[in-house]
Amino acid sequence: MPDHEVVILRIGHRPERDQRVTTHVGLTARALGAKGMYLAASDKGVAESIADVVDRWGGNFFCEDNVKWRSCIKNWKAEGGIVVHLTMYGLNLPDIIGEIRPHARILVIVGAEKVPGEIYGLADYNVAVTSQPHSEISSLALFLDHLASGTGFAHEFPGAKIRIIPSKAGKQTEGL
Ligand code: SAM
Repeated sequence: MPDHEVVILRIGHRPERDQRVTTHVGLTARALGAKGMYLAASDKGVAESIADVVDRWGGNFFCEDNVKWRSCIKNWKAEGGIVVHLTMYGLNLPDIIGEIRPHARILVIVGAEKVPGEIYGLADYNVAVTSQPHSEISSLALFLDHLASGTGFAHEFPGAKIRIIPSKAGKQTEGL
């Protein structure tokens, strides 16, 4: 099984209302081992919030804003990667994840509001995390967990200044 290189492409972000959700898309992706997030909008605030978490909690997760989604998809494919679009209209995750898993480089597209119809055609896989509406954060988390077959809890975050020591009760941390 390849060690996946996953990058998120977040489209439809509206800076006036999506900052918190988009930041959490990035943090979820980071926590579950993705390499970074391309943001198809101009929003330095999101990029800075994520960079601040990376600085304290480690790893090399990147967030790049002002990305043009068409060229991002084109370049990703030109470099041999595949494109997965998360949408409730797609094929259900358990039915298709076995076909996706052998691919090493995966660009995962999540929307905010209605995504342009063109995305459905550009994606190699349109994947539903149930055929019910919910959110880009929950769909991404479940997709990444299934992709890694549940091994996504083992990621290391080199350079962390702080780390949690898992505890049955209370809060234990260590400064590094
Ligand atoms: N109403 C919008 C549409 O028709 O495209 C969806 C908005 S939803 C709040 C934002 C994003 O969450 C979607 O673009 C999709 O990426 C993701 N999403 C929501 N429900 C999903 C599901 N059941 N399966 C996969 N992705 C989902």
